[in-house]
Amino acid sequence: MSMNPMFSIQYGLFVVTACQDGRDNGCITNTVMQVTSQPNRISVTVNKENLTHDMIKATGRFTASIISEKADFGLFKHFGFQSGREVDKFADFADCRRVKNGTLAVTKGTNAFISANVVQMVDLGTHTLFVGEVVEMEPLTDVPSATYTYYQEHIKPKPEPVGVTSEGKTVWRCVICGYEYEGEELPEDFICPICKHPASDFEKIVR
Ligand code: FE
Repeated sequence: MSMNPMFSIQYGLFVVTACQDGRDNGCITNTVMQVTSQPNRISVTVNKENLTHDMIKATGRFTASIISEKADFGLFKHFGFQSGREVDKFADFADCRRVKNGTLAVTKGTNAFISANVVQMVDLGTHTLFVGEVVEMEPLTDVPSATYTYYQEHIKPKPEPVGVTSEGKTVWRCVICGYEYEGEELPEDFICPICKHPASDFEKIVR
């Protein structure tokens, strides 16, 4: 049984993209939803620390590519576990297509895209909620959408079983991205260098 009712809310997964001054970027979110049908509007909530946030805020344009059950873990690593402030995520990424509002739709591991132009922004402190008028949308495949639960159960690599090595080395593994920290104790304020999740998202493994 889920101990936290917040974990009972079901979410989809999306690559949300933006383009500013010729520079493309995108990030993974679970926060896209349709908010009204007439007019057809969607919302997306993006963390202010994401470069994509600043780009949507500046340009008022974004595309949500809907991740399907055929997506592999590499898609999540590529768009979720690195920052557009450090790498150009589209520099060597071919599985995408320029759509009418100037942003890129991701075409592999996704089953549709929806482009929107922002009509309202709500400052939520750590995040901004963008409401956008849908300007273009297209189905790509009939593969079902990946829910967050599906991702956890079928796409995210399973941790290896706990065992003991001859060296008895202690390893702490980030349950989000798989990064491994070696050391007897994990510092309480440790932040995963790959996905930026805190020490509470690390599990101790022995091998
Ligand atoms: Fe991590």
